[in-house]
Amino acid sequence: MPQIKAAICREFGQPLTIETVTLAAPKMGEIEVTLKACAICHSDISYMDGAWGGTLPAVYGHEAAGVVSAVGEGVRGVAMGDPVVVTLIRACGTCPSCAGGKPVACETGFEGSPLSDADGAPLHQAMYTGGFAERVVVDQSQVVKLSDAISMESASLLACGVITGVGAVVNAAHLRAGQDVVVIGAGGVGLNAIQGARIAGARRIVAVDMSEEKLAIAREFGATDGVLATDEKPWRAAKKAMGRGADAVFVTVGAIPAYDKAPQYLTNGGRVIMVGMPHSGAMSTYEPVMLAATGQGMVGSKMGDVVIARDIPWMVDLYEQGRLKLDELISGRWSLEQINEAIADTRTGSAKRNVIVFG
Ligand SMILES: [Zn+2]
Ligand SMILES: [Zn+2]
Repeated sequence: MPQIKAAICREFGQPLTIETVTLAAPKMGEIEVTLKACAICHSDISYMDGAWGGTLPAVYGHEAAGVVSAVGEGVRGVAMGDPVVVTLIRACGTCPSCAGGKPVACETGFEGSPLSDADGAPLHQAMYTGGFAERVVVDQSQVVKLSDAISMESASLLACGVITGVGAVVNAAHLRAGQDVVVIGAGGVGLNAIQGARIAGARRIVAVDMSEEKLAIAREFGATDGVLATDEKPWRAAKKAMGRGADAVFVTVGAIPAYDKAPQYLTNGGRVIMVGMPHSGAMSTYEPVMLAATGQGMVGSKMGDVVIARDIPWMVDLYEQGRLKLDELISGRWSLEQINEAIADTRTGSAKRNVIVFG
């Protein structure tokens, strides 16, 4: 069994420790991927901070890309040496949700971890991936084969941030060309909701963020207008820019005031799509009579409701055509040894993604 380096969380709120760990060989239906890149997501940080609980010690990291280095029995569609993106979406393929086309809502519970530490004690494979490590062993449902035309660093972003943002627009909101959109938060997921809205043919795309700098970046990704969230009643400026209320408002941040106020941006019949991941226990309030009187709705969207085998290939194709920005989402490249510095940089709230690059 291979010995690999991994970044381990042994205590919530503490830096990760780089340790040599053991990775079990792939079992039936599993694939070993030697990672080339793994991006850092705010979800990794929320887990590290204990915001959502979970088992320790654990290996986080779930936005990964690499090369298939071993395959278990019964694996179809990928072979040794194939470049792949590795996602956290593990799906059984046969439960009612999977069979109904919603693998992100798979109802089957999965247990077990291929990881153990130097003393042989089990390590939790967080988010079914454990991507802050030189290699991962994952279920074949989590993997999509890539073309050679895309770099591993750019491909890693497709595993979470990009599919979550773009998928919220095309799969959760079913946006039609000509509709108007507000995106609250111009961070890693927000920028992808913005470019998803541009790809889907939105008329006006209004970015709302606390920072002028992020609003400027939002315009590069397709926002037609920007509104500072710190303005008094920012929905007024957003509605002025659109000439009406929004058909869809995407909340891509974790801050509760953004959820409380999101319906204010809507037109009659519009939808709030909740994409961000506030800490467990955080509560929001809304006015039910407004939903009934206006036909408005609020819906959650997990991982962009993607079907990875369907959605990742078309996103790669749009990237190759220059219609989906990926390279521009990367703000820094770091080694695994530098992971705590990379995480600290991500915590500063920079708009884009830091990527761990493996040698
Ligand atoms: Zn993520
Ligand atoms: Zn399932």
